[in-house]
Amino acid sequence: MLIDGRMTHRVAIVGAGPSGFYAADGLLRARPDLRIDLIDRLPTPFGLVRSGVAPDHQGTKAVARQFERLLAQPGVRFAGNVEIGRDLSWEALRAGYDVVIVATGMTIDRKLGVPGEDLPFVWGSWRFVAWLNGHPDFREGPDLSAVKTVAVIGNGNVALDVARVLAKTADEMAKSDIVPEAGAMIAAAPLTDIFVIGRRGPEQASFTNNELAEMGRLSRAVAVADAGALAVEAPAGDPTPERLRKTKNLEILRGFAANVPSSKPITIHFLFDRPTTAIEPGAFDLMVTCVGYDGVAFPAGEGIFPVGWAKRGPSGTIPTNRADSHAVAQQVIGWLAQRDPKTGPDLLPPSVDVEGWRRIDKVEAAAGATLGRPRVKLVDWKALLGTAEG
Ligand SMILES: Cc1cc2nc3c(=O)[nH]c(=O)nc-3n(C[C@H](O)[C@H](O)[C@H](O)COP(=O)(O)OP(=O)(O)OC[C@H]3O[C@@H](n4cnc5c(N)ncnc54)[C@H](O)[C@@H]3O)c2cc1C
Repeated sequence: MLIDGRMTHRVAIVGAGPSGFYAADGLLRARPDLRIDLIDRLPTPFGLVRSGVAPDHQGTKAVARQFERLLAQPGVRFAGNVEIGRDLSWEALRAGYDVVIVATGMTIDRKLGVPGEDLPFVWGSWRFVAWLNGHPDFREGPDLSAVKTVAVIGNGNVALDVARVLAKTADEMAKSDIVPEAGAMIAAAPLTDIFVIGRRGPEQASFTNNELAEMGRLSRAVAVADAGALAVEAPAGDPTPERLRKTKNLEILRGFAANVPSSKPITIHFLFDRPTTAIEPGAFDLMVTCVGYDGVAFPAGEGIFPVGWAKRGPSGTIPTNRADSHAVAQQVIGWLAQRDPKTGPDLLPPSVDVEGWRRIDKVEAAAGATLGRPRVKLVDWKALLGTAEG
């Protein structure tokens, strides 16, 4: 492509989540002349930083500020509301760009694969978290008005996010960007017991120490565990950081074992070695499964480079994507060095550009400011697209 009288390569990054942004960052560090289109099916950037990371963990969401700086770079275009495979084919993208980076992440809840999973009180964490985080495709939440007991299936940080957001008071969520309707529904629910259920032992749990310890500092909920289940040690064969993390988790859980159930309005029970083999109606009022995610297949081949969750599956935190995407960016730079830039027209259909996103951002931040919150999200497509148009 000809930019300012010079030929340069054009790169399409499909997916404006962390892995897409880190890929753009890695590319621009080596080749600031590149023309990069960051394409997302949503009118908003940042992927799961906006729609997955828990709304009360604003420190984690602050990574979006780094990504904003990339959006301001002259060679970068944001193209929101463009779904590859629907608005533009993968083939057209591959033919028109010098390189296509696939950063599409995951899209649906992984199934437990047990009878009863499709009962209406069973929710996948993707759907549940997307609802309270304002993803425009997931506007239906569970009816919590009579929910007293909740089972959260899984032993990773997403399970802790779900249990914690349900257990926190409205005051504890006051500085979050939870969708207000979801926040009000949770605050009004008659919750008494939340069971965090793992299929394996406590020494295998994937919780990180800080997130687990936070469960012991909630104002209306007490975390408890069965001391008998905790008479185990971190697996000796694990690498040292893993062993330390698991040892610390066991220590935190032993602290929970000393707590008195029902000493606060909500009791959070940590249960281990309980594989879910069937789901029966009646045992819990709500079940949220936090057992991973699946994605949609994308084409492979020459000039297509996957990154992030699309490449590795649903594991790893935001910083994991940085190292991975930077490494892929190096491969892309090497690949481009052996090829002349393609010529051809601009392929992008009409989209929400960075100015459109900034209009959304401004409206959301202003709505939040009146309530002392970081933002109040626009949650439906019409409002998002209308605001982006200005
Ligand atoms: C519930 C939850 C909580 C989490 N909490 C934390 C946390 O607290 N801390 C932490 O470090 N990590 C957390 N993570 C992990 C972190 O979110 C991921 O590591 C990271 O978001 C993966 O980045 P990604 O870019 O690969 O995918 P994503 O963030 O999912 O981004 C993919 C993007 O691609 C877009 N897309 C998909 N298909 C198309 C298409 N066909 N055309 C155009 N665009 C498309 C999507 O709209 C999305 O914006 C959490 C994950 C989840 C699910």
